[in-house]
Amino acid sequence: MTGLEVGVDVGGTKIAAGIIDETGAIVRSARRPTPDSSEIPAAIAELVREIAAGQAVAAVGIGAAGFISADRQTVLTAPNIDWNDAPLGHDVSALLDVPVVVENDANAAAWAEHRFGAGRGAHQMLAVTVGTGVGGGLVVNGHLVRGAHGIAAEVGHIRFERGGLLCGCGLYGCLEQYASGTALERRAEGRLLGPDGSPVSGPEITRLANAEDPAACELLAEFGRDLGEGIATLVAVLDPEVIVIGGGVAEAGDHLLDPVREGLAAFLTGGTERPGPSVVAAELGNQAGLVGAADLAVDPDRDA
Ligand SMILES: [Zn+2]
Repeated sequence: MTGLEVGVDVGGTKIAAGIIDETGAIVRSARRPTPDSSEIPAAIAELVREIAAGQAVAAVGIGAAGFISADRQTVLTAPNIDWNDAPLGHDVSALLDVPVVVENDANAAAWAEHRFGAGRGAHQMLAVTVGTGVGGGLVVNGHLVRGAHGIAAEVGHIRFERGGLLCGCGLYGCLEQYASGTALERRAEGRLLGPDGSPVSGPEITRLANAEDPAACELLAEFGRDLGEGIATLVAVLDPEVIVIGGGVAEAGDHLLDPVREGLAAFLTGGTERPGPSVVAAELGNQAGLVGAADLAVDPDRDA
């Protein structure tokens, strides 16, 4: 297949498109606000034409936050956009006359880390993205695991506490309610205050921890141990080689990762009597979804 490898990331507020090279680096990109869902295919087509600037496009990969059908064409439902049963892949393919693959954004980001980032060379890899929510992606034997219906690896919705906090998914006690950026902000209430007495944001907590603020470090330590405890449940089932932690909260580096390692060690079945996974920070940042989607589109069977 010849031509440009294009990745697109569709989020609740913006759509970003980029051309990647064979090392996964983004060589040209553009973005625009996310329009009404009915106009998303046209917006993607315009962005792709803009960055391609007349050059041939080999394929387009689209990463979208939501449940994606197993054939990687249809957005079944999306949490942040009013978007249901949308044949996104087909629509964009018809507009651009190129092959299009749609992938869950967390899966696409996990694939990018596996191909070009912190999970390079690991055949068994679990990615956990700690942002507004908790997302995940799973690579087993070098292949992305989508499950029977395209919606595997929703690691934020394993149950962390029976009868616990109500989750956006409608169930109670999901890990996401304890170990997401939103949960971190909630934990900070009454314990950490901004200079004017206001609540602190997740990025501000991360910044304070990186400046060695004791209260912020303690908060992240509790948070990280809980995240590690949740991850231990996944490790009991999956036994991965490496766990790649990404998302905004991961910018706290070892202020987050060391407590995650502690929590994981404390709750891992078999404890110190068994080998466990390494826990490392993601390397590709918030462009990972775009990069992974582009790579998956150029050779849809690469991971199949
Ligand atoms: Zn949930």
